[in-house]
Amino acid sequence: MLKVAKFGGSSLSCSEQFAKVKEIVAADDSRKVIVVSAPGKRFSGDHKVTDLLYLCHAHLQYGVSYETVFEIIEGRFCEIASGCNLEIDLDEEFAKIKENMRKDMSIDYLVSRGEYLNAKLMAEYLGYEFVDSSQWLFFNFDGKINIEKTEKALNEIFALHDKIVLPGFYGCGSDGSVKVFSRGGSDISGSLAAAALNADAYENWTDVPGILMADPRIVDNPRVISEVTFSELRELSYMGADVLHQETVFPVRKKNIPLYIKDTNDYTAPGTLIMEDFPPDPSEDGFKFITGISGKKNYTIISLNKSGISDSIGYIKRVLDIVERFNINVEHIPCSIDSFSIVIAPGTQQERIPLLIGEISKECEPDSIKVTPDISIIAVVGRRMAYRPGVSGRLFKALGDNNINIRVIEQGADEINIMVGVENHDFEKAIRVLYHSFT
Ligand code: ASP
Repeated sequence: MLKVAKFGGSSLSCSEQFAKVKEIVAADDSRKVIVVSAPGKRFSGDHKVTDLLYLCHAHLQYGVSYETVFEIIEGRFCEIASGCNLEIDLDEEFAKIKENMRKDMSIDYLVSRGEYLNAKLMAEYLGYEFVDSSQWLFFNFDGKINIEKTEKALNEIFALHDKIVLPGFYGCGSDGSVKVFSRGGSDISGSLAAAALNADAYENWTDVPGILMADPRIVDNPRVISEVTFSELRELSYMGADVLHQETVFPVRKKNIPLYIKDTNDYTAPGTLIMEDFPPDPSEDGFKFITGISGKKNYTIISLNKSGISDSIGYIKRVLDIVERFNINVEHIPCSIDSFSIVIAPGTQQERIPLLIGEISKECEPDSIKVTPDISIIAVVGRRMAYRPGVSGRLFKALGDNNINIRVIEQGADEINIMVGVENHDFEKAIRVLYHSFT
């Protein structure tokens, strides 16, 4: 039995958190591969070490002294080392990093040192072997992972040392230098390690009890989702539920490895299990078929009206070709007989909408074109909703009973997701109404 356990920054923010991690690892002998983030925040208002490293780099670039910021970073690692009674020579490590900072060092190298040093500390603390991620995680020149080389390298290392600590977040670029993922990327490192070693489970340890059914800033004490499929999780996280880095699921999903989200601060709690599918549970009552609710604000809807659209071939394509020319990403296209809408996600692309409208009006001559900003899209996700009559009826009734006007409705073909668009000012209320009517 082999488990790959990845611990996030808040689970490794200080020596007290390190002690919890040690207890968790000791509680299960199959936790043989440990992946670590850099130390995160210890309290609100505190700094993540990775943020401080980015700040050091900015200081270096502008020729401002970075010493004070670097001293804070040193202090964070020294506290962990002394609190855990470690013998590692941190001064030597800091000197090496500072020497590289005086040379032509890359930003990726510098910001990866949080994970590198934390892994060194954790390896000594657990009595595991430290393995630099430049030695097993390989990127291609296009930034994608060289899976073959990565799997081979990690298996060879694991054959020599069967208890290892790996720094998350970085690997070796195609030119041999350190290359990092985007922020939060240690989740991907853990998933790649689990997939490379064909682990029995990938555990992602964090500071929340699991994936929540709704945003706790909107719904008081939302329930923890105990089981969620990879597809449901994709829908929920795309729409804003934020527990794992978006790319985490791909490596483990491909190998059918179960992924657990667990709470370092309450390690016996069940957390959330994510798998490809779950057998149906006959005891499930019909009211509990929603897995989760998430959503995002600030969409814009462009609605076009032209009589006879449904009979004219190629009209929608012509409009979408123009949208593509403006490099605007369309998220949904709800249609009716003589009209259709284009739902555009929040972000800077919305700045190009006025010019886009002008171009569509000129080239496609719609009867009318209307822009509605400030729309929120809410996704109600649940694999158990599929092929079950009455779900959308209940959903719309709940919103209607609470005076919430629905501007857009969409359902994916696999029926695990119903999306409704409401005005921004109804966003939080709609989520609360839906949560309470389905739990
Ligand atoms: N330390 C990196 C960050 O803060 C990577 C990670 O924690 O996953 O983004």
